[in-house]
Amino acid sequence: MTRRVVFIKEDNCIGCQICIKKCPFDSIIGTENFVHRVNFNECTGCKLCIPVCPTDCIKVISIDGDKKDITEKILFNFQRKKARVSRVEKRTESIINSQIDKILANEQK
Ligand code: SF4
Ligand code: SF4
Repeated sequence: MTRRVVFIKEDNCIGCQICIKKCPFDSIIGTENFVHRVNFNECTGCKLCIPVCPTDCIKVISIDGDKKDITEKILFNFQRKKARVSRVEKRTESIINSQIDKILANEQK
């Protein structure tokens, strides 16, 4: 059996991290401004990352394997990403609220 996944053409990747943010399954690895890579063991082949890449360097390939190989990981990875995004959003909201409080406090002086 084969399954479809995506891979990143490294020569064209600018490390913008847009694909990481888009992937619901945390299947892309990379640091800002450096080449990113896809973890084939976790990629579902959903292709959501393809249209958002500004350099069009994400391509579909077939690999040996079965969709059953990743079924359990899909749910786990999806929930892990949701939890992480939610933590970041809460932290951002808290930072913004604290900035607003400081500004308002200064205005009242
Ligand atoms: S195809 Fe889907 S699962 Fe695979 S890296 Fe792209 S967004 Fe993530
Ligand atoms: S969106 Fe494209 S260019 Fe940006 S990090 Fe991902 S693969 Fe690289």
